Amino acid sequence: MRLHWHRRDLRVADNVGLADAPDEPVGVFVFDDDVLAHAAAPRVAFMLDALASLRAAYRERGSELFVRHGDPAAVLVELADGHDVEYVSWNRDYSGLARQRDDRVAAALSEAGVTPQRFHDAICHPPGSITTNAGDPYKVYTYFWKTWRDREKDDPRPVPELASVGTTDDEPLPDLEALGFDPPTASIPPASTAAARDRLEAFLDGDVYEYADRRDYPADDCTSRLSPHLKFGTVGVREVDQGVRAVRDGAAGDDRESVVEFRSQLAWRAFYAHVLHYNPEVVTENYADFEHDIEWADDPAHVEAWKRGETGYPIVDAGMAQLRAEAYMHNRVRMIVASFLTKDLLCDWRHGYAHFREYLVDHDTANDNGGWQWAASTGTDAQPYFRVFNPMTQGERYDPDAKYIAEHVPELRGVAPEVVHGWDECSPTQRRNAAPEYPEPIVDHAERRERALAMFERARGGAE
Ligand SMILES: Cc1cc2nc3c(=O)[nH]c(=O)nc-3n(C[C@H](O)[C@H](O)[C@H](O)COP(=O)(O)OP(=O)(O)OC[C@H]3O[C@@H](n4cnc5c(N)ncnc54)[C@H](O)[C@@H]3O)c2cc1C
Repeated sequence: MRLHWHRRDLRVADNVGLADAPDEPVGVFVFDDDVLAHAAAPRVAFMLDALASLRAAYRERGSELFVRHGDPAAVLVELADGHDVEYVSWNRDYSGLARQRDDRVAAALSEAGVTPQRFHDAICHPPGSITTNAGDPYKVYTYFWKTWRDREKDDPRPVPELASVGTTDDEPLPDLEALGFDPPTASIPPASTAAARDRLEAFLDGDVYEYADRRDYPADDCTSRLSPHLKFGTVGVREVDQGVRAVRDGAAGDDRESVVEFRSQLAWRAFYAHVLHYNPEVVTENYADFEHDIEWADDPAHVEAWKRGETGYPIVDAGMAQLRAEAYMHNRVRMIVASFLTKDLLCDWRHGYAHFREYLVDHDTANDNGGWQWAASTGTDAQPYFRVFNPMTQGERYDPDAKYIAEHVPELRGVAPEVVHGWDECSPTQRRNAAPEYPEPIVDHAERRERALAMFERARGGAE
């Protein structure tokens, strides 16, 4: 018999390790305190829901998903010993910490006479398979995308025969409290393969054709919202890409271009997984080299105002409120709030990354880090440091009717869009009359932009 150790592949369909390793598998999931120490309520809530449905999928097929709490090396060796297990399979994770843990688990299993088997599943093409002609990892996304796009993809894996253990595991799934988390205040989307497929199908049936034109407008909410499913693997990437290609091949003109635009976002996810694989230190360090340390201002009062959504910049505050309410934030707004924290408030991206890690249901080390380092101009293929988003112009361009802002900032409901988008230029009296409860801008964008440029120029070793 084989054990398949599920981690961020919480499904039985299109699961490479589950399908490809020798022997019929049963599943196991291990709550690991070292991982839980970096987790947060929204993600754990989503994961528990996904685990309940994964366990149901095993049981429907006469098999079982064991759920244990402890050090995975010890848990897996013990389970293998008690169930006559020859192999333990799992799908690889690309962060440095996960790789260290996996090496340790593999060594413990080998020592116990059990064969560990590792697979690539979370992205279509494993690190090392998409490289420049010289064999180096791509540093520029566009080149990566072109190679990724043209590379043939595997079909989704079928669900394999699962082993029968003749009994159900008597360990119930823990609840959030037992794992040390308070219930999340945000509403968390349903987590199962069925929920992921419903979302994918609905998206491919309609919004995907609007994606290229409307994806940047947060009030339209026309993106796929697949991110937590891709993060936890409630759906497989081959299945998603196969669905996207089928829709692309049936479309023409602008519709087809829109589908391709969506597909290119999936490739960003693969790109950042490669970046993390080759540069595990980016989790805490700037990807880019600077001559001197960046002298972030790091005013704690500014960080707190940003977190609370009380900056007096309406689109920024709306994004931070959406994050609290939905454990999610629209991509365009993520870019705006990240730029605001780093370039207007001059605060280190690591404060923002830590906050997103706590609040996002889709927090993914590679994507979150990639997004923050892009916005902070410290990453690979990042926003150039001299291109500083103007948060007022961004709000006006991407939320012209201030609909998204009104949805998330009740203090600004009923205020005319031109006042909302001119908030920084209103007099104190105009602001008091229009929205007495909404704060004044905490910084002056034009002045902070100059300071940001000077801060980066100093770090780059340029003139004072
Ligand atoms: C500061 C910052 C932090 C971010 N943190 C995360 C994170 O923790 N987890 C996460 O999945 N994404 C993150 N992103 C990327 C992006 O914002 C989200 O993937 C997207 O908003 C999720 O919504 P969606 O599923 O509707 O996206 P869609 O637009 O429908 O895209 C489909 C999928 O493509 C992938 N994708 C899309 N855009 C990106 C991108 N720029 N980088 C990497 N993958 C992308 C995601 O898996 C997404 O689910 C971050 C972006 C920024 C600027």
